[in-house]
Amino acid sequence: MVGLDTTTTVAPVLILLGPPGAGKGTQARMLQDRFGLVQLSTGDLLRAAVAAGTEAGKRAKAVMEAGELVSDDIVISILRDRLADPDCAKGVILDGFPRTTVQAKALDALLAASGQRVDAAISLDVDDAAMVARISGRYTCDGCGEGYHDTYKTPTTKDVCDTCQGTDFKRRADDNAETVAARLEAYHAQTSPLIAFYQTQGALARVNAMGAINDIASDLGAIVKKATA
Ligand code: AMP
Repeated sequence: MVGLDTTTTVAPVLILLGPPGAGKGTQARMLQDRFGLVQLSTGDLLRAAVAAGTEAGKRAKAVMEAGELVSDDIVISILRDRLADPDCAKGVILDGFPRTTVQAKALDALLAASGQRVDAAISLDVDDAAMVARISGRYTCDGCGEGYHDTYKTPTTKDVCDTCQGTDFKRRADDNAETVAARLEAYHAQTSPLIAFYQTQGALARVNAMGAINDIASDLGAIVKKATA
């Protein structure tokens, strides 16, 4: 952990940074349950916009399928609308946002307008080589969104969700080898500079995210506890 500033006066704002497959979604859900925060995934919001056929969804679809980043204006606008929802007043964990310096600065401006700021930006540090294997085996429960993996996290009862007992599961269209390579490239070129950005703000923390899910959750929990104390 590097230079984490721990004073929080308003609802906490936490960011999970890391390449695709680092476990941001899984860990954000665990933090949501443990700390009563709202998980906010721009990937989920964009997939919902694509499914609903909104104007933003239509513009985002092909870009997402190619594993590239959706334009800052679309993503910032989707995020701004969601942040204004009343449930976000209890605090948020941003999962997959910001992904560019433009987005990070827009977030700072949005938060500053309501007297808030980023309390902690936590980088999930992983080896790229392991990410393709992680991503190609993952799937989620269609009912509640709980994440699973063919090798690392299977449901306790085969084909039954541990959380909601649902039996329908889905795999993401962009979780294939070619798209993953493009997504990793986008992460290194456009998102990884945010590690230095948040270090300069004194908000950066880092965890080794190559271990067991529960060990990583416990490291993250300690950081969040400190940042939200
Ligand atoms: P994710 O579910 O976070 O892996 O995001 C899936 C895809 O949605 C990414 O590969 C991008 O195409 C798009 N996306 C999600 N969040 C952002 C963001 N903050 N900025 C730009 N594109 C995004």
